[in-house]
Amino acid sequence: MTESSPSKKRKTLDLLTKFKSNRENTAKCVMTFNFKKERVRVLNNLNDVKKECKGILYWMFRDVRVQDNWALLFAQKTALKNNVPLHVCFCIMPSFLDASIRYYKFLLKGLEEVEEECKMLNINFHLLHGEPNIGILKFVKTFNMGAVITDFYPLKLPMSWINDLQNNLPKDVPICQVDAHNIVPCWCASPKEEFAARTIRNKIHTKLEEFLTEFPPIVKHLYVTTDKFEKNNWKTALKNVKVDTSVDEITWAMPGYEHGIKELESFIQNRLKQYADKRNDPLSDATSNLSPWFHFGMISVQRCILEIQKYKKLYPKSVQSFIEEAVIRRELSDNFCFYNENYDLLEGAHAWAIETLTKHREDKRKYVYTLNHLENSETHDDLWNACQNQMVTTGKMSGFLRMYWAKKILEWTATPESALETAIFLNNKYSIDGCDPNGYVGCMWSICGVHDHGWPEREIFGKIRYMNYEGCKRKFNVSEFVTKWGKEEKR
Ligand SMILES: Cc1cc2nc3c(=O)[nH]c(=O)nc-3n(C[C@H](O)[C@H](O)[C@H](O)COP(=O)(O)OP(=O)(O)OC[C@H]3O[C@@H](n4cnc5c(N)ncnc54)[C@H](O)[C@@H]3O)c2cc1C
Repeated sequence: MTESSPSKKRKTLDLLTKFKSNRENTAKCVMTFNFKKERVRVLNNLNDVKKECKGILYWMFRDVRVQDNWALLFAQKTALKNNVPLHVCFCIMPSFLDASIRYYKFLLKGLEEVEEECKMLNINFHLLHGEPNIGILKFVKTFNMGAVITDFYPLKLPMSWINDLQNNLPKDVPICQVDAHNIVPCWCASPKEEFAARTIRNKIHTKLEEFLTEFPPIVKHLYVTTDKFEKNNWKTALKNVKVDTSVDEITWAMPGYEHGIKELESFIQNRLKQYADKRNDPLSDATSNLSPWFHFGMISVQRCILEIQKYKKLYPKSVQSFIEEAVIRRELSDNFCFYNENYDLLEGAHAWAIETLTKHREDKRKYVYTLNHLENSETHDDLWNACQNQMVTTGKMSGFLRMYWAKKILEWTATPESALETAIFLNNKYSIDGCDPNGYVGCMWSICGVHDHGWPEREIFGKIRYMNYEGCKRKFNVSEFVTKWGKEEKR
């Protein structure tokens, strides 16, 4: 059986072993591989790295992995070219958007795995604390870094850290950003905000061949530092974090690269075949469940697509649908947040949507719930309550129900602005894949019609697409879902 013709009969894929041995076989090519410069956005003058520097810094904050990471690859290539050590810093920030302790714990365990892997590769991993722009600047100055290479995360807060760092770095320290999250780098996919999936789809597909390439491995680094660094203290890492600690850790998904690849394997073997037909049925467990690892960059979407597209012949519709979601829709979200500074506000919506929501602003609402009612699953709608409860207890809600959930918030809050704010807040606080461009766009799509078109006009929603309970009943067994996910006392 060849790798390019996977069979339904195959019992174990053992992707972890396969990827590891591929890396060993290709380790020699790291110095010679041709890095696609388009993946890099130079943020200030990339003069030659100064001779007397003591290392190159990869400032990691979106892509928490070592292998299959274009930003780290670029950093290692730069360090090897300049014969200096390679450092990776992650700065634990006191708070991040509306994220709770659930988010931080998942992140931290993934980072511990990164430290282990870095150690084996002679790469220095440093866990910093505080505001990242300040911590990274201090690190660069104290340890005389020759260049900063960082991730791309098109939300306002991480973009502001980068701007700040860029303005304050010594003039002889270049900084550049590598899009290690998208297959086609966001700035290459399109130079402007795209209107909808249909306007970006072809642009991405025509560039896929160029960018959907195999990764060279990160190799054992040749240059070791002689500086003394503080040991990372994982036990006290969350000491100064000031976030909501009432949200429990999740148990169905374990952080880190290895667990992510195992989930990919389980998806390919058990669920991919029904992805095209069943992914909108919240009871069928047909989706990949990969969003936590994708969000934290613990596995690379590009690696998953390289693997999944080998099943094109076996499951053509499913592979096509998965590429549509994981590549087109996901990269469209980054496009929206990168080019639209109002990605989290009604002002960021299309003119037709703002107009229709404004026209229906004063429409009478049959139910108006407070944030407290919503957060505690206390509405009259047992399906909505079950969705909210599923998100609170597991950190995830099915994609189809996320749309229903957000649209009902529009129906049951006083204004579209408060609906949007509430949906974004709850999604960021409880979803393990929250604080993500996908989340902002999901809420904007549901409540403000972003990337959608107008529908027949009705109260409150105006021309925004409507969804209702009866429609859900036609799609799946609502009462089974409510029994499974409703709060105990409500059953
Ligand atoms: C109101 C609302 C909020 C959402 N919040 C988030 C969020 O916080 N984080 C998040 O990653 N996704 C979010 N989504 C998008 C989508 O629902 C999730 O990505 C998906 O449910 C994740 O489950 P999965 O990995 O099993 O998905 P799969 O169906 O297996 O999809 C694979 C991957 O494709 C991407 N993807 C799938 N659907 C979409 C979509 N509609 N838009 C963009 N990318 C998509 C995701 O990266 C996902 O992991 C939201 C959608 C809505 C309507």
